[in-house]
Formats: sequence, C-alpha cells, structure tokens
Amino acid sequence: MSDYKLLINGELVDGDLTMDVVNPATEEVLAKCPRASEDQLNQAVAAGKSAFPAWSATPISERKALVNKIADVIEANGQELAQLLVQEQGKPLADATGEVFGMAAFCRYFTSLDLPVKVIEDSDGRRVEAHRKPLGVVGAIVPWNFPLILAAFKLPPALIAGNTLVLKPAPTTPLTMLRIGELIQDIVPKGVVNFITDANDLGAPLTAHPDVRKVSFTGSTATGAKVMAGAAGLLKRITLELGGNDAGIVMDDVDPKTTAPQLFQSAFQNSGQVCIAMKRLYVHENVYDEMCDELATIAKDTIVGDGLEQGTNLGPLQNKMQYEKVQEIIEDSKEKGTVIAGGDKVEGAGYFIRPTIVRDIAEGTRLVDEEQFGPVLPVIKFDNYDDVVRRANSTDYGLGGSVWAKDLDKAYALADKMEAGTIWINKHAELDPGIPFGGAKQSGLGNELGEEGLAEFTQLKIINMAKAG
Ligand code: NAD
Repeated sequence: MSDYKLLINGELVDGDLTMDVVNPATEEVLAKCPRASEDQLNQAVAAGKSAFPAWSATPISERKALVNKIADVIEANGQELAQLLVQEQGKPLADATGEVFGMAAFCRYFTSLDLPVKVIEDSDGRRVEAHRKPLGVVGAIVPWNFPLILAAFKLPPALIAGNTLVLKPAPTTPLTMLRIGELIQDIVPKGVVNFITDANDLGAPLTAHPDVRKVSFTGSTATGAKVMAGAAGLLKRITLELGGNDAGIVMDDVDPKTTAPQLFQSAFQNSGQVCIAMKRLYVHENVYDEMCDELATIAKDTIVGDGLEQGTNLGPLQNKMQYEKVQEIIEDSKEKGTVIAGGDKVEGAGYFIRPTIVRDIAEGTRLVDEEQFGPVLPVIKFDNYDDVVRRANSTDYGLGGSVWAKDLDKAYALADKMEAGTIWINKHAELDPGIPFGGAKQSGLGNELGEEGLAEFTQLKIINMAKAG
C-alpha cells in the first residue's frame, strides 16, 4: 500500500510495486509511491485503446468542456497541489503556485482552439478538404524540472484533439500528478486519462507499445534519441522537446545595472533546471567587468533554502544525480575559470547549491560545452559580433537564445543569425501557451503549444471529391 494511487481505466489503484519519493530539501522520504509494473502499463494502454472510439467520437465542445473541468479542479485545489509540488520538486512556493495555476491556464488556452475542416478548393471540378483526425492512444513522458507545466503541453491538446492518454511523470516527481489523478478520477470518462509511474523502466516499453500511436516526450537529448529509435519500428508520430545550451549575447550598449537582474533570473530560475534557461552568457568586452560584478552581487544576495520557507529565492537541485553532476561541473570550472560567487559546498542535508558565477572561462570546458542544468553560469567575454554568433551557434543544441541591447535593429540582426527554435530580444525563456515552442538541431523535433502544438496530436486527412462536370 502507498499514500498515492495510479489512475488506470478510471480506477485509482495501487502499484504492483512501490518506491520512495524523496524531498530534495531534506533528503527524507516524503511518501511511498506506487510504481507500475509492465503489466499495469499494458492495462493503461489497453484502457486508452478501448476508450478511444467513444472519446474520439465525442464532439470537440464536450472534449473542451472536460479540459475546462480539469482546470477547475486544479485551481480549486491549487494551494494543496503547490505545497506538494514544493516538497517533491524543491522549487519555492511562489514558483510552485505559478506552475499549478499555469497548468490550469494552459488547459484553458487549448480550449480556445478549434480543429475546423479547412476547404482547400471548392471549384466546379472538385472539392478538397483538410481534416484533423485524432491518432489514438498518446504516450506522454515528462521530466522532473516542471512536472505540471510540461504535462500541460501534452494533456490538454491530446484530449481536445480526441486522443486518449497514458502519461508517465518522472520517477522523482510523480506525486503531484498522481494527486491530480485522484482529483479528476470522477470527472474523466473511464480510460481516457491514465497516469502510471516507474523507476525509469517504463518509458521504453511505453514508447515501443504497438497500441501507442504517438509519443510526446520531454527530457534529455540522449533519452529523446532512444524514444526516436523505439518509435521507428512502427513509424509512430513523435514530438521531442529535448535539452538545450541557450546562449545569451549582451551587446556593448546595455546598462549592466538594469540588465543584470533579468539575466540572472533567466539563468537561475528553478535553480537553473530549465530547458530554456540561459546556460552560456556572452558579454561584450566594454561592459564585461561591470556585468560580472553586478551578477556576482545578485548571486551573493540570493537566499537558497527549503522552498516552503518564506523568503527563499532558489530551492535545492531536484535529485541527487543532478546535484552530483552540477557539483562536478563546478569543481571542473574552478580550474578553468574564475569563480566570483558561490562555488563552495553547502553543509547539511538537502541538495543545495548556491548560485555560482564563473568568469574568464571559454569554450572547451564542461561548463560552456555541456548542458549544466543547474545554478552555475559561465560569463564569457567577446569583442566581435560575427565571432560571437559563430560561437553561440557552435553547439549541437538549438533550443533558445537571446540578444540584449538598447539598439533593437542591431539586436534583431544578430538574433536573425542565431540558430535555435526561439530567439528572444531583451528577455529570455518567456513561454506562452499561444506561441509555438520547439527545438532546432538536437534540441527537438516538432512543436508544442499554439495551434501547431494542437495539430501535432492529429493526423492530417484530405478528402478530395470529384464534382460531376
Ligand atoms: P530524462 O531524459 O532522463 O527523463 C525524462 C523522462 O524520460 C522521465 O520521465 C524518464 O523516466 C523517461 N525515460 C527514461 N528512459 C526512457 C526511455 N528509454 N524511453 C522513454 N522514456 C524514458 O530527462 P530528465 O533528466 O528528467 O530531464 C532533464 C532534461 O530534460 C534536460 O536535458 C532538459 O533540458 C530537458 N528538458 C527539455 C524541455 C523542452 O521542452 N525542450 C523541457 C524540460 C526539460
């Protein structure tokens, strides 16, 4: 028996196995969690398959009404869900609250969309229509940095398009999603939404399952490649939102004092565990020293602690593996650059790392070349704009990037040369459910959010009818 339940075929059930979920701020076990067996994964897919004919035939207005009801339930229980999210994920309560209510808002955004039949041609000779048809059972796989908001990229459009869903959160952050499962159990038709959990062992069989028609995956590039391989045998539809190593380029006309707080937030929110966090900061030599000093001052003033404590700006890293990886990168950076804030180990329990700023560092180091996914930022000096664009682009990733400048024409010209799915100007990491989001190069395949994000959960079907002439 565990404190939480899986949602399979409309029933709240125990897992065939259990696992512990740890609070990263205390390293204590937060809850015993159900862990699904492969048999239970198969039951969830079978439930989605048998619910599909009726659900896909349900009018889109009713499907949207259900998604709105899910949003109502999330909002009505928002405070409880936010507290739980802090305890399993680590982020400060204000951020967790934003994520919970953000999930509801993303659900509502998708209910504003429709999938109308598009008439491509209606002439004397023929009528050609484009329809958007649901695919079947969708497998949705989510990482641990934003367990709810990233699920909200998938669940509402999948359902509104007429698909059924088997969603798998990350092993270290399953609880809030399972709690949502309990709360929506009696409003969702049997089998339309299924939530299962695993210990990193069910992503592969979910991906390869013959009755799963589409996989919507968010996670690392390495695992994304496995998903692509797993889906290849049956030519499944896939959407991959993967890792990034976003560059920010600061031009020579910025005011370091007013820009540094925004740069800091772009790099360090959620303790740097954001796919579109600014992970490499290139600063023009004219403003380099001052910018480094400003960033170091903000870093030193930042309060790191338990997300439930008032005043906390940054919580712990979410799990031990990530904590150890980031510590290693910091140790490596001490030899390759100059640490001007943070860098020392935080004593006591919890996976805490103080925001760390490293200057006088360049490419060829782990911190610059890899996705650190933690609260440590390399600040790199440059003196030539063509050269800095080349350096910013010299990565296999291409998720996001940004340019910071007073002269917007110059910023735009630079932004145009950067290779990524999204380039922001004078901001970074702004997500909006109405704006399509996706990665270039090895940061992903396909798009989420916006009309494009809804269309990805459909099959385009053309009806081409001859007219009697
Ligand atoms: P991860 O790839 O280790 O795990 C992600 C999910 O995949 C988890 O639910 C995991 O259980 C599952 N999984 C593990 N093995 C699998 C397999 N063989 N087949 C299918 N699924 C499998 O990633 P993570 O460490 O949880 O998340 C961090 C990474 O996610 C970072 O690289 C980050 O940049 C990326 N990310 C990308 C986006 C985006 O939208 N592009 C958003 C958030 C995070």
